[in-house]
Amino acid sequence: MSKFFSGRHAALIPYTPGEQPQDMQYVKLNTNESPFPPSAGVLDAALREAGKLQLYSDPTSGELTRKMAQHMGVSPDRVLMTNGSDEALYFAFMAFGDEAHPMVFPDITYGFYPVYADLFHIPYEEKPLKDDFSIDAGEYRNVGKTVVIANPNAPTGRCLPLSVIEEIVKSNPENLVLIDEAYVDFGGESAVPLTLRYDNLLVVGTFSKSRSMAGARLGYAIASPAIIADMNTVKYSLNPYNVNRVTAAAGVAALEEDEYYKNNCKTIMENREWTARELETLGFDVIPSKTNFLFAKAPGVSGEAMYLGLKKRGVLVRHFTLERIKEYNRITIGTREQMELFLAKTKEILKEAQA
Ligand SMILES: *Cc1c(COP(=O)(O)O)cnc(C)c1O
Repeated sequence: MSKFFSGRHAALIPYTPGEQPQDMQYVKLNTNESPFPPSAGVLDAALREAGKLQLYSDPTSGELTRKMAQHMGVSPDRVLMTNGSDEALYFAFMAFGDEAHPMVFPDITYGFYPVYADLFHIPYEEKPLKDDFSIDAGEYRNVGKTVVIANPNAPTGRCLPLSVIEEIVKSNPENLVLIDEAYVDFGGESAVPLTLRYDNLLVVGTFSKSRSMAGARLGYAIASPAIIADMNTVKYSLNPYNVNRVTAAAGVAALEEDEYYKNNCKTIMENREWTARELETLGFDVIPSKTNFLFAKAPGVSGEAMYLGLKKRGVLVRHFTLERIKEYNRITIGTREQMELFLAKTKEILKEAQA
């Protein structure tokens, strides 16, 4: 720490991103990226737009915002496009969290929530997941705090039905409910339609996972026009050109080629179910998933040994050191070939442990 670092941030423990090794080629099943490249139209649009990089982007992301609004069946004043959904999340934390608006989220969830809360000095409570890693929805009814829930949740993969989300929203009319739908395209049900009926609901999503655009950084927030206006106040106080022009053009093309991404999601869901059955056959505890990853515990091998054994064999998965989940690993679902390789290496490790 330098002597110049603000005391305000001295105690901050930053978020740890998954490994992005640049040294060797791994089968990368550790950060929930898509194994499929962006669609052809996205590549064309990005290349075309790159020729105009000397010009600032449209601060309103007008065309993209209108396309997204149309795609979601809402008006454009209910949509904010952001630099990854991480930006939508921190705009929301900045706009809606403070001493008078403390937050509540599960103890096991996206690691950025407590980091943002600490960064912006927002008090928060972490509600324990149930023993089966499901969210105890009753804990969030009438809770009197700003609610943040990833649905489906990460890194567990479990999903709450939309009816339960609606109950949480309905029972907290004086508090904002933020639903992070990073994985909704892999079998979940989106709460976006509910934003038309509840003015305390904010839905955040991303193009990083189902739309193969993690490296482009594109996310969105959907809510009442008043909530979006508040988030715009934060955005224009911080980073007006938040979505660069290459990404904005790519985003428009991605929405126009929705079928391609829907098909990819279908393939990933099929690969997920196949991999889950194979792991169960090997004796793994596999948490039911509505995402592009599986959360699984190996039989007779620690979570860390599994992670290290796979890494040594060229396969990266995500291991967390948090006590409650340290025996599990989060395995991103890739192509069928990648999953076959992952399973072959997994079997080697199990055999070695038995010998
Ligand atoms: C991946 C992820 C995000 C962030 O995605 P961006 O790449 O910033 O759009 C947000 N929430 C959850 C739960 C995630 O897993």
